[in-house]
Amino acid sequence: MHSPVFSLEVFPPKNSSPVGTIYDTLDGLEDVHPDFISVTYRQGALADRTVTARIAKTINDEYHIPAVAHLTALYNDEQAIDQALDMFEEAGVKAVLALRGDFIEGVEPCGVFSHASDLAAYISRRKPGMRIYGACYPECHVEASNLQTDIDNLKRKIDAGVTRLITQLFYDNADFYRFVDLARARGIDVPIEAGIMPVRSVKSLERMTSCNGCCLPPAVKAMADRWRDNLPALKQAGMVYASQQIADLVAHGVDGVHLYAMNRPRTVRKIWANVSPLFDEAA
Ligand code: FAD
Repeated sequence: MHSPVFSLEVFPPKNSSPVGTIYDTLDGLEDVHPDFISVTYRQGALADRTVTARIAKTINDEYHIPAVAHLTALYNDEQAIDQALDMFEEAGVKAVLALRGDFIEGVEPCGVFSHASDLAAYISRRKPGMRIYGACYPECHVEASNLQTDIDNLKRKIDAGVTRLITQLFYDNADFYRFVDLARARGIDVPIEAGIMPVRSVKSLERMTSCNGCCLPPAVKAMADRWRDNLPALKQAGMVYASQQIADLVAHGVDGVHLYAMNRPRTVRKIWANVSPLFDEAA
């Protein structure tokens, strides 16, 4: 029996908040010992291109947890990609999550790579020692015509050097199991980590379903309806639901669980308290 990987994702504080607030998040995660923490990459003209590397360095050097840096393609030209990769290397980053990124309404992309697989291929040439991870979509990427086509495109990422996949959030584990079966049948044999995001508010659920095309199973819809105006109850139910999802994934032998921590260490700690014995047991 293999031990599933447990990883977390944090994002750089908004431009209006001091970058030091990330310490509150990281301090709060001290009792959780994730296999890695990934740091998202913000796109757009106002984004600080150095912040992902700086936070990754803090995670590596001060918290002694391996950091994974996200990097997007659409709004970065080759020089910006090179600069980001050099900064990641200096920060001690050993793995990059290569992403295409989303189109920003009204802003023409200035990048040279149209797909994440192009960026992955470039990173494997430019930084041969760096591991490359990729994103995948159990319910199909919103722009793809169908799941099989999306999985055919996903195979291009693997062929370009991606060695680990992390899924978009989903709330129905059956979608994940179906996706993994299809990916394996297509010859995708790298570890696939399940992305789990605890329900936190009805507003964020609505945003996720409209932007990512993620479906809500009846249990999550019922939760959102019943506790729409009772945030503490909704958050509590969300943590219980996420814990149950993770328990079921571990029972099914999942390669790993990637918790979208949303810079909320208390939520992570509570979920980890529920599920950590299951990870130990699987080891
Ligand atoms: P791609 O793999 O390029 O796929 C995008 C679409 O193009 C899909 O429909 C795919 O089927 C299709 N496609 C792919 N290759 C080809 C090809 N060769 N020919 C034709 N069609 C093709 N966004 C951020 O801005 N910052 C982040 O830090 C960030 N982190 C993320 C982390 C995870 C785990 C996930 C799941 C998503 C993250 N995103 C982030 C969002 C991501 O940028 C979007 O989901 C984006 O729409 C797609 O990115 P991708 O890398 O999967 O793109």
